[in-house]
Amino acid sequence: MISELSNLSVTKWQSEWDHTTKGAITKSFFPKIADRLKMKINVTPNFTTMVTGHGNIKSYLRKYKILDSPMCSCKSGEQTADHILYDCKLLEQERDSLKAAVLRSENWLVNKNKLINKFNKNIKKFTNTIPFDKLQTIIINLTNLYIRQGILVEIM
Ligand SMILES: [Zn+2]
Repeated sequence: MISELSNLSVTKWQSEWDHTTKGAITKSFFPKIADRLKMKINVTPNFTTMVTGHGNIKSYLRKYKILDSPMCSCKSGEQTADHILYDCKLLEQERDSLKAAVLRSENWLVNKNKLINKFNKNIKKFTNTIPFDKLQTIIINLTNLYIRQGILVEIM
């Protein structure tokens, strides 16, 4: 009975999840609610940032006008969660061990849902080594916030 009820609410939740226009990045990692519920994830701030795209990522900071430009410090593109995961030149070393794990059974690159489901440990490890603070090297133009060379300082 309990599991029938919870199946019903997961189904309802899934249908809402399918129809909402919000959380596109999160959806690309977790299209299926039931899969996410089965997964044991130790949610860290880095992990949340990567699977939501919300946090210390320039495209997000730009959206809220904290930064003038979403361009990544590596200068090869906009700093989005996808850029950090697949393209950022500053994270090549960190990405290499994730890639190596994937390449044992798949071709690089694999989509985010597969990364989460099949390479869970590896994606978590990669995510937790991302130095988000070091990816921000420009001075931001906000009265009381100052980000430079990885140091976030609150100016009194
Ligand atoms: Zn980059």
